[in-house]
Amino acid sequence: MFKKSWLSLCVIALTLTSVHAQDMSDVEIKTTAVAGNVYMLTGAGGNIGVLATEAGLLLVDDQFQPLAKKIEAAMQGINNNQLKYIVNTHYHGDHTGSNAFFSHKAPIFAHQNVRSRLQAEQDHQTAALPVVTYDNGVTIYLQDEEVQLIHFPAGHTDGDTVVYFKQANVLHTGDLFFELGFPYIDLDGGGSVKGYLANVNQLLAMMPDDVAIIPGHGQLTDKAGYSAFAKMIDFSIKRVSKALAEGKSEQQILAAGIGEQYKDQAWSFISEERWLKTLIKGLK
Ligand SMILES: [Zn+2]
Repeated sequence: MFKKSWLSLCVIALTLTSVHAQDMSDVEIKTTAVAGNVYMLTGAGGNIGVLATEAGLLLVDDQFQPLAKKIEAAMQGINNNQLKYIVNTHYHGDHTGSNAFFSHKAPIFAHQNVRSRLQAEQDHQTAALPVVTYDNGVTIYLQDEEVQLIHFPAGHTDGDTVVYFKQANVLHTGDLFFELGFPYIDLDGGGSVKGYLANVNQLLAMMPDDVAIIPGHGQLTDKAGYSAFAKMIDFSIKRVSKALAEGKSEQQILAAGIGEQYKDQAWSFISEERWLKTLIKGLK
């Protein structure tokens, strides 16, 4: 059996030639200014958030280990001040892969379950483990920014944190948002289909209308984009719940598909079939 971290590696594996090659020499880290002192870095794996102030930098997620030096160079390209804090939004390898590299520079913050799940992996490195953990969240103050780390109950995993930069008015959702289509819900990692939607709806209710949103995967977006994503998940849950209540088999549900309206939400890692199977397993 493959480990769970392998599953998250799949997110990018399908766009590369092979999981095992892990040749990321061609991957470029791109920096996008979001708002205030907050930036988004993209390369391979989950989107990275950076708060860059004169008092130091804060990093949200760190993709894959082979990219660590490129990520560091991209941060230094914004400003050359010291890295002060690192946040892991959840345990998946495409968000925590460079932990061991960056942990020598600053402490890693995460929900307790992130540490527990990383520690449970047979080949884990002690240096890759978060060293400050919390149950519900914590607030980090850096220069004039208030960085709110907010834990949500079972959704993408059982250790999800979203990061809200209050002054800049920017939200990093972690993988509680796949801007590119159907979400990956890690049921074996403590995730929940209904919990995922409840968390997304709660975030939409909490956030100001003009918030800028860095999704876990996909393009920089806004509340309208997040709302559309919530509607798609709501529609999917209702459709599959109804079919299950009518006694339909998995085969029948897969044959009926997700419907015309949302067919185009399939992408390399989460096909229509995989999304439907997750819904069936999670809603049964
Ligand atoms: Zn993930």
